[in-house]
Amino acid sequence: MEKKEQLYEGKAKKVYATDDPQKLIVSYKDDATAFNGLKKGTIVGKGVINNRMSNLLMQKLEKEGIPTHFIEELSDRDTLVKKVSIVPLEVIIRNISAGSFAKRYGVEEGIVFDEPTIEFSYKNDALGDPLINEYHALALKLATKEEIETIKKYAFGVNDQLKKFWSGCGVTLVDFKLEFGKVEDGSIVLADEISPDTCRLWDSATGEKLDKDRFRRDLGGVEDAYAEVMKRLEEHI
Ligand code: ADP
Ligand code: UDP
Repeated sequence: MEKKEQLYEGKAKKVYATDDPQKLIVSYKDDATAFNGLKKGTIVGKGVINNRMSNLLMQKLEKEGIPTHFIEELSDRDTLVKKVSIVPLEVIIRNISAGSFAKRYGVEEGIVFDEPTIEFSYKNDALGDPLINEYHALALKLATKEEIETIKKYAFGVNDQLKKFWSGCGVTLVDFKLEFGKVEDGSIVLADEISPDTCRLWDSATGEKLDKDRFRRDLGGVEDAYAEVMKRLEEHI
């Protein structure tokens, strides 16, 4: 399958049409942004790692019964996916306090929750992806009740699977963001990516951050951290 016209260039990926109207090619870049695009940079090799990691994790999730947009890895940076109509919600699952949760509620990072939490942001760059609840999402017709129920079920399912998997790699899954979309028949599938750009991953033994927080917070060793989690994943998948 070949790339046709570029449909979209985002902060981390480009999206291309193909000969099949139901399929797209996503191409992962090394560009990194944070704070709603305010901080910009490059993480050398990130696109290759995120492409591979996301594909391996999505194939694993498919086996566990969670439908995804993944079809086929085409190259180092390019993957063929099912074209979806993205539900404009960022779905965030947290196992441990960190980031905006810690800031918003005035607690330290690293508090382990008894149960995972879920929250939604309205995917709207101009508004800065504001936090939104299910009633607001329904009022704005971003999704139906049934779709939100399905999304929650899949999101917690992803957490159960990935928490277990990363734990076997000596990595703690702190939190992550998912996006879902609707395929032609209206069913919901997991879309976008699962990578150190979209997950907080801490070394279980040392607590060292192995994700995009190294870039966001200028901690250094960004490329090494991405390579390290990728290595652990490939050893355990
Ligand atoms: P952003 O748009 O936030 O800058 P990216 O650079 O990752 O993010 O761009 C990828 C875009 O493609 C995102 O807007 C994402 O919602 C969208 N997308 C991801 N998977 C699919 C898919 N299977 N079909 C259609 N759009 C998708
Ligand atoms: N996240 C993401 N994209 C976003 C916002 C958050 O991938 O636009 C991920 C982020 O990497 C983290 C989780 O979602 O793993 C929770 O992020 P948080 O709300 O704490 O926001 P942040 O601290 O990144 O502003």
